[in-house]
Amino acid sequence: MRNVYTTLLLIFAAAIFICSCVIDRRDKSPLTRAIRYIMIAAPCTMVAYAGALLATNRLAAELIYATYYVVSDILLICMLHYTLQYTHIYTPKTVQRGILYFVVAADALMLYANVVTEKVFVFRCGMMADGDTQFYGIAERGGLYNFHRLVIYGLVVLVVLPLVIKIAKSPAMYRKKYWLTLFSLVIIIAANVLYLALRLEIDFSVLTYGVMALAIYYFNVIYVPQGLVEGLLSSSIKNMDDSVVCFDIEGNCVYANSEAYGFFRARNTEPFEEYYKGWMNGRKLSETEDSDWKETREVNSEKRYYDVSFKRLSDRNDNYVGCFFKMHDETVEVEKLAVERFRATHDRLTGIYNREHFYDVAAKAVQKAEPGTYCMVCSDIRNFKLVNDIFGINVGDELLVNIADTLKRLAGAGSVYGRLSGDRFAICMPRERFDPDVFVNEIRRIGEKSGTSTYRINVHVGVYDIVDRDIAVSVMCDRAYMAIKTIKSSLTDMIAHYDEGIRESSVSEQKVTGEFAAALEDGQFCFYIQPQVSVRGRILGGEALVRWIHPQRGLVPPIEFIGILENTGLICRLDMYIWDLACRKLREWKDRGLTEYHISVNISPKDFYFADIYKVFTGLVEQYGISPRNLRLEITESAIMSDFDKQLILIQRLQEYGFMVEMDDFGSGYSSLNMLKDMPVNTLKVDMGFLRQTSHQERSRTILKMIISLSKQLGMEVVTEGVETREQVDFLTDIGCDIFQGYYFARPMPVDDFEKKYFVNRG
Ligand code: C2E
Ligand code: CA
Ligand code: CA
Repeated sequence: MRNVYTTLLLIFAAAIFICSCVIDRRDKSPLTRAIRYIMIAAPCTMVAYAGALLATNRLAAELIYATYYVVSDILLICMLHYTLQYTHIYTPKTVQRGILYFVVAADALMLYANVVTEKVFVFRCGMMADGDTQFYGIAERGGLYNFHRLVIYGLVVLVVLPLVIKIAKSPAMYRKKYWLTLFSLVIIIAANVLYLALRLEIDFSVLTYGVMALAIYYFNVIYVPQGLVEGLLSSSIKNMDDSVVCFDIEGNCVYANSEAYGFFRARNTEPFEEYYKGWMNGRKLSETEDSDWKETREVNSEKRYYDVSFKRLSDRNDNYVGCFFKMHDETVEVEKLAVERFRATHDRLTGIYNREHFYDVAAKAVQKAEPGTYCMVCSDIRNFKLVNDIFGINVGDELLVNIADTLKRLAGAGSVYGRLSGDRFAICMPRERFDPDVFVNEIRRIGEKSGTSTYRINVHVGVYDIVDRDIAVSVMCDRAYMAIKTIKSSLTDMIAHYDEGIRESSVSEQKVTGEFAAALEDGQFCFYIQPQVSVRGRILGGEALVRWIHPQRGLVPPIEFIGILENTGLICRLDMYIWDLACRKLREWKDRGLTEYHISVNISPKDFYFADIYKVFTGLVEQYGISPRNLRLEITESAIMSDFDKQLILIQRLQEYGFMVEMDDFGSGYSSLNMLKDMPVNTLKVDMGFLRQTSHQERSRTILKMIISLSKQLGMEVVTEGVETREQVDFLTDIGCDIFQGYYFARPMPVDDFEKKYFVNRG
């Protein structure tokens, strides 16, 4: 009997060892590790007990028995470790672990000490058939054995407790998981109780350790996770927001979740099967493939969007076992995407296309159309910033919305329109539909509607006829804007067409800016001077006028480059260069004793942005040691008007320093007589040009008379430029003009010529 039991124990122990090796060693999870410990500790206990049963001398039996009890302690510690990992109920602190290990160590010490003390247990002696004495049974348990018992029972309680708590607290699906482990523990306890109660010679309960280890292995690694996975899967499908309908190979609906019943408005499985039949369309399951498609359905008179997928199911051997449909309601995503797409392609304020999208759509429209049949029409509001500043952002916004609405009205079939930036809009339309009169009318209406009655809104329109379909839409728009730039009188003209002239001027613009720096360095810019003469015919000095002596093009007049340099801000460098030459010349004249002659220099409106005019001129005067009286500064009306108060202070400071300040081109711009009285300039330069332009010569002459008499009263000196005839000189002398400048006297000339002509007998 004993031998049979021993053999059984050893075989069983070996089986468990093998199982422990089968557990995936790569799985380093704490739970798997805990199970592995049990599967090592349990067979150790069994082997120890088998060893104890086989012991043939007292000392060996003592030691092996003690080992068996100690290993039992260890097995229980492994069990405790496992249940704590399994239930996640509590993580023992280091101190608690320490106490536990200490108690077990004390128990072990006491058990091994039994060899000497015999206070824990005493052996019963049995005889073998061959006459050898054999010690295999415990005859008596001493008082100290109770300590070991206490350790064991304590550990058993600690092991069982987490499982019981979990069973009480977990949902039904999980309870089974803990029940099974608890059940195997109960078997061990029951077997042990039975062994003690029946006072059996051999402890059969040791075998149940192995049973328990195997049960834990099976329930944890094989059985429970599988069951749990299935349970969880089916409940996730049940609770899914998507509709799921499963079919067997015959096309019978075997499962549909509640969402699917809602989707098909089904009361039984019939609608599902109808759907399946419709999809299969007479095919077999083996002839189908996994696929996805979109479906839209009307639900409660609301359009809903679905992403439907069909999937086939196969078993391990690749045999089809069924299929399922999944319907995902993506209405929210689709609508969100639509909103996002709208935001990305439309302008927030006006709701029309934004620049990027306009470029895309217009490019497609142009490509689709017959070559040469489309035009690009762009609009720009003159001084839109002023509208915002004076009337507020709301009025500005309203104006922009009005323009967008106008575009919507004007756009017919085949037209694309959008907002390019701030106050810029564009419409790409068939040429035959573009009617300038209609546009002018609409633009006028925008101005009237805009709620800015005190301020005239000027919307300007540039048109580019798309002859070359392959250039980028952005370039087409640039060309339309180039045309707008040519609109001079913002009051009468509203529409300008892009033509070859504009293209050429833009090319020459690029040439000028490209060549400027090198030309300046190279000394290609020369200082010409046009004499200024007193009423008595005496030379008083002259105006410095620049000329570009181009190596290929020869003498280039300022009109061909000053405007361009002003637009790009390069003018400042050129002006500083000319001012420097003028001051140098004044110094030369001073050294020759010619101190009564002045030079007038031009200051471009742009110079005020880029240079500190006061600092530059006082600096030059000091550098060359000349009198500021001899340097006259020509400022244009537009420069003064751009920031009246600031310029007023600047002019006063310059005058206090000793400069003569002249207002250039008076009469060509905003010119108001009223303004004259506030303007503290020393000299007024009136251009004869503005007299020439009018047909009512008499009235113009009267105005000129008044200007001159008014400036005299205000103590200003008057210079008339552009004087070409004797009559003009006589008339101007009559009405009180002080100084003349014009071709009648002399054209602008190189300074050397000027000096030769006027300073013949001087210095
Ligand atoms: P502006 O300052 O009004 O200069 C007078 C212009 O009138 C000069 O043209 C001059 O040659 C021209 N002129 C003089 N007398 C007569 C005449 O009897 N009849 C006619 N039809 N024209 C006459 P210019 O030199 O071609 O300069 C044109 C404009 O270029 C100047 O107008 C000035 O605004 C600008 N400019 C010239 N040089 C410079 C410069 O160094 N710096 C800056 N910023 N601008 C300059
Ligand atoms: Ca001038
Ligand atoms: Ca002038």
